[in-house]
Amino acid sequence: MSVEKTLSIIKPDAVRKNVVGQILSKFEANGLKVAAMKMKRLSKAEAEGFYAEHKERGFFGDLVQFMISGPVVVLVLAGQDAILKNRALMGATDPKKAEPGTIRADFAESIDENAVHGSDSATSAAREIAFFFDAAEIVN
Ligand code: GDP
Repeated sequence: MSVEKTLSIIKPDAVRKNVVGQILSKFEANGLKVAAMKMKRLSKAEAEGFYAEHKERGFFGDLVQFMISGPVVVLVLAGQDAILKNRALMGATDPKKAEPGTIRADFAESIDENAVHGSDSATSAAREIAFFFDAAEIVN
């Protein structure tokens, strides 16, 4: 067990559904603390850069268009085993396969619009946190 930081994004579909607070409550109720947070609209270049590892995938264009379709909330979450804990709270990428009670089961309908992003490893978390936040913006 170790204290970690991870990057979360509340995606445009969840912001449109007005469930930002419900998603934050789920993080807080499960031992994750908000260490940094901002609401913003991603530029096309930002969305492409953030998801660069998927650029050869057939869904890349749709993913980028979705991520710039409205504001997102970008968060650093901190806590014991924050990376895995956040992935467990999110549920499977495809909401139809997500465990009941997970964020994607509760708030998403499709794999294209699946409510949240979460870093999938320590390496990704470090890259993704630095992508959106300066060190001075993150509470220890
Ligand atoms: P995640 O780590 O659970 O978010 O999943 P991945 O890293 O595999 O994929 C990144 C994101 O790409 C997912 O959250 C989806 O928003 C999107 N995605 C994955 N597969 C598909 C797909 O088949 N179609 C579309 N449109 N988007 C997809």
